[in-house]
Amino acid sequence: MKRPMKRPVKRLLIIAALSIAGVAAVAAVVAVRTVTFGDGSPHETGAVVVAPEMEPAELAERLAAALRLATVSTGGAVAADLEPFDAFLAYLEATYPAVHSGLRVERVGGHSLLLTWVGDDATLEPVVLTGHYDVVPARSVAGAEWTHPPFAGVVADGYVWGRGAMDDKSSVLGILEAAEALLADGFNPQRTVLLAFGHDEEVGGRDGARLVAERLAARGVAPAWLLDEGGMVTDGVVPGVTAPVALVNVAEKGFLSLELVARSTGGHSSMPPRETAVGLLGRAVARLEARPLPRRIGPTMAAMLDAIGPEMDLPARALLANRWLFGWAVERVFGASPSGDALLRTTTAPTMLRAGVKDNVLATEARATVNFRLLPGDTVEGVIEHVRQAVDDPRIELRPLRPGSEPPPATDPDGEGFRTVAAAVRATWPEAVVAPGLLVATTDTRHYASLTRQLLRFQPLTVGPEDVARFHGVDERIGIAEYARGVGFYRRLLLGL
Ligand SMILES: [Zn+2]
Repeated sequence: MKRPMKRPVKRLLIIAALSIAGVAAVAAVVAVRTVTFGDGSPHETGAVVVAPEMEPAELAERLAAALRLATVSTGGAVAADLEPFDAFLAYLEATYPAVHSGLRVERVGGHSLLLTWVGDDATLEPVVLTGHYDVVPARSVAGAEWTHPPFAGVVADGYVWGRGAMDDKSSVLGILEAAEALLADGFNPQRTVLLAFGHDEEVGGRDGARLVAERLAARGVAPAWLLDEGGMVTDGVVPGVTAPVALVNVAEKGFLSLELVARSTGGHSSMPPRETAVGLLGRAVARLEARPLPRRIGPTMAAMLDAIGPEMDLPARALLANRWLFGWAVERVFGASPSGDALLRTTTAPTMLRAGVKDNVLATEARATVNFRLLPGDTVEGVIEHVRQAVDDPRIELRPLRPGSEPPPATDPDGEGFRTVAAAVRATWPEAVVAPGLLVATTDTRHYASLTRQLLRFQPLTVGPEDVARFHGVDERIGIAEYARGVGFYRRLLLGL
């Protein structure tokens, strides 16, 4: 005789069966997604376009001469020495005569350059290629001297050495080299190409890129897309991917510096009150650090992970293919390093503290500066509100050091701009994986955000893990062959416009 199963037992069995079926289904989905991850988007290869008439040694020499002109942006109250800026523009005029006679040349904001290369078809939207020729100062760091003086423009050991070799004179001259050679060949683009070279990017671009963008806007110019610095070919930098990864950045972070101010009555330190300005401020900063803005995989990071994931080995590949299930794990693994964490959240960085004048006098005021880099999707207003809640103390005054800048809208990685740039990247670096990415710094690009929805950030330069510190650091340099390859990239890009 069959005994009827007791209700609770039956329920348990059903739950067990369902969960086994569930786990099996999930495992099947995970497996299928892992195997099919990246289907339809393998990195295509194309013929490498090199300009036969260009001698890498001559390209290097012309770049080196440009590095000898110390176009240093100092910012602050002291006016920059503009003589090198004049000399640089004169150097460009002498070195690229076809560009200067064939294109319309305008000075904007004193020392920025806007060049208009009128295309054959006026019905096509123009495109903008930009760069900047100002550089940051080259200070000697204790224990790390420059191999060659930063403004000597030395060509040695297969490299062009000097401040600006990577950031960003190689982009400016690379674009001009390609244009000059194409003009000599009698080439004219279909669409109008605007070349915009800023002179103050390193101090915010307010007199350069901002005014160029305003002038274009006043003329009703609506570019299809714009290419600026801010992405590159990375080699050995993206964890888990052995192939070089060319990051064409489609988004960049916003910027906000907030000052936190605490006040108290002051007096002699021999009779302190229960709460002091220093103590209140210290607690506020500690609370803020303990409550960072949450991590998330936004649309740009999702697109990047979709591009690089298929290049990874198991189990990383399985994790990335199944972010619907393992998103938390991906966030943990990626967020483990400060550089990865910066891609996943609005970062909180206390940078300055100020309080007190004497060891036995209570400070009446204590101030902390905290710098935030905003993930696309976050807003300056939202971050300030987050700080207010995290600090949770109405006695702490919050004030922005200057108006923050919102992250510009992210560019569609399926759009025409990305596809065009990516095709030229693939043609120039057939061995690389091309991925859309997020720039954690800021560039001049944001000034153009109101002109076009398609802002791309990529410069034709390969960097390894040891090269990252050369940006704004000691021993900035570019390989001669690499620079020639970069010129080839711009040539390929222009040929398609
Ligand atoms: Zn730069």
